[in-house]
Amino acid sequence: MVAQKPVHVKSARSRIHRLRLSFSALNADALLVTHLPNIRYLCGFTGSAGILLVEHTRATLFTDSRYTLQARQEVYDASTAIAAHGLIRAVAEALKGRRGAIRLGFAPAQVTVAQKTALQLAAGARVRWLAAPDLIERLRAVKDPDELARMRQSARLISDVWTASVRHVKPDVSELAVAAEIERSMKLQGASGPSFETIVASGPRSAWPHARPTPKLLRKNELVVLDQGAILRDYCSDMTRTVFLGRSSVGARAGVRNKVRSLYAAVLEAQEAAMAAIRPGISAASVDVAARKVFKRLGLEQYFTHSTGHGLGLEIHEMPRLGRGEETLLEAGMVVTVEPGVYVERLGGIRIEDEVLVTSQGAEVLTSASREFLEL
Ligand code: ZN
Ligand code: ZN
Repeated sequence: MVAQKPVHVKSARSRIHRLRLSFSALNADALLVTHLPNIRYLCGFTGSAGILLVEHTRATLFTDSRYTLQARQEVYDASTAIAAHGLIRAVAEALKGRRGAIRLGFAPAQVTVAQKTALQLAAGARVRWLAAPDLIERLRAVKDPDELARMRQSARLISDVWTASVRHVKPDVSELAVAAEIERSMKLQGASGPSFETIVASGPRSAWPHARPTPKLLRKNELVVLDQGAILRDYCSDMTRTVFLGRSSVGARAGVRNKVRSLYAAVLEAQEAAMAAIRPGISAASVDVAARKVFKRLGLEQYFTHSTGHGLGLEIHEMPRLGRGEETLLEAGMVVTVEPGVYVERLGGIRIEDEVLVTSQGAEVLTSASREFLEL
């Protein structure tokens, strides 16, 4: 498929411009960008080999000859340099041509020791390394209008995928088969693929928050956790629904159903409490606290074993994390998931996850699939 020429050069320009403002505050001369989603965010390049060097008066994308044509079509707001002998060497050569010492900002979690050593060797002692973690990630946390339009579309798509594929969730179908139907539906609706490996976890396996689908068949009287996300026009979606394969009213089975029903109501209440807490200016941690409070009141807090949510966008996990101790303040334009859950050994797990946009007034839920208790 031919890549479309980006039409939102204006907002991308403001991205690099905003990045320059934040690295100037650190007194850096340049920033070395190696993380591919950050490169895509800043200059539009979607290839698998690239380093972007952002300086005060220029930005250069270093890539190799496989990407000559692609870069010409995709890259905006940066010039492209095709490296003949490795990206790091090309960056070093470029830095060698600059005057005086260069204070080079880098993200410690993303630049490898090998890259740092090679650059140091090739560019000499004039490079002064300046740790600058999360600079671009903080920009990416607040979506611009073009990104928000894509996030809305991606969230709508995953909601439609759920509606189209829920009929495959029934006894004697394998977890893998259900996952395959979900991913097929994503592609039929225009997604480039899943944003993570689709989770279909049934029965006791649903108590594993990140279970991989297996050949196990779904059975009557089991919980099934289905966590799915798609990538549409580069932007990820993420939504979880949990259903119960019940429809039995006799004896012990009715007991299980009642237990499951009350746990489901608890998770839904926790999710609604967390969503109600979301507004600009409050900390990410306080959203997590709002969900946890509900479980505590119901005596279920020990079953909620992960954080309440996470940002998402070009990647499935972005800033901010809605978890304990997260001091990031929410801002209008952030998109986060709200996904409390309970996981009970043997009985199974229940998680309900939706995407929420932080607005100037509070919050808007972007995923639209019904959250009613669904007994199939
Ligand atoms: Zn999810
Ligand atoms: Zn998630």
